Amino acid sequence: MQDAAQNTSKMAVSDEVAITINGMNKWYGDFHVLRDIDLTVQRGERIVICGPSGSGKSTLIRCINALEEHQKGSITVDGTVLSNDLKNIDKIRSEVGMVFQHFNLFPHLTILENCTLAPIWVRKMPKKEAEDIAMHFLTKVKIPEQANKYPGQLSGGQQQRVAIARSLCMRPKIMLFDEPTSALDPEMIKEVLDTMIDLAEEGMTMLCVTHEMGFARQVANRVIFMDAGQIVEQNEPEEFFLNPKSDRTKLFLSQIL
Ligand code: ADP
Ligand code: MG
Repeated sequence: MQDAAQNTSKMAVSDEVAITINGMNKWYGDFHVLRDIDLTVQRGERIVICGPSGSGKSTLIRCINALEEHQKGSITVDGTVLSNDLKNIDKIRSEVGMVFQHFNLFPHLTILENCTLAPIWVRKMPKKEAEDIAMHFLTKVKIPEQANKYPGQLSGGQQQRVAIARSLCMRPKIMLFDEPTSALDPEMIKEVLDTMIDLAEEGMTMLCVTHEMGFARQVANRVIFMDAGQIVEQNEPEEFFLNPKSDRTKLFLSQIL
């Protein structure tokens, strides 16, 4: 396991493109939050996005599955151009899973129901099939025995693993993570990161906003540093950490490492 994990960052990346972002800009009212974002993500890439609070990391990944609208430039996900056409938004959302800092599980539904809701209502999947798939992914994140409990009865780490399983039930091609461990107590961080490492080893295309630099070193094939709405620097993890180029990156790394 240790050897496999250590090799994760060297895993092959396909030459197929998963996401293309060209000249993308976004404003919140008058506030220019994302500036001239260019980013191409290959299928199978594992990208870690870091940067100071307020630099636009969440906004960037929320634009990728149209949780936020962008005003200029283009975003293409798996060949589908993201526009205000609702049909494309649905298609992109069905291919892109998202895991948030605060889990966002439905508190009044059981763990199993949380995982089957979208497959049944969005995918029109028969209930039994949705439950079988949900149990498969709950087993994968190592909590099948929690299926009939409610979110409030689980630890934060367990809830976050449910959130990951719930996303996987929709069979996404790309997974976006927005600081998935930053609301967790330290002893629960590892169980969530281990789940994400497993996903990476299976070849999932992943964009992870996180400040878990150990995870970045182990899993990412590319680390992106954002500041003030721009991609300031990006590199493979080894180079990024050993030899940061911009002063802003150096300052950021000196504060978090
Ligand atoms: P990060 O995830 O890097 O901390 P965000 O993408 O959340 O950054 O936010 C970037 C900037 O945009 C911040 O200055 C934040 O206050 C602002 N912002 C975020 N969401 C909104 C919103 N819905 N309306 C207005 N400003 C926002
Ligand atoms: Mg954020």
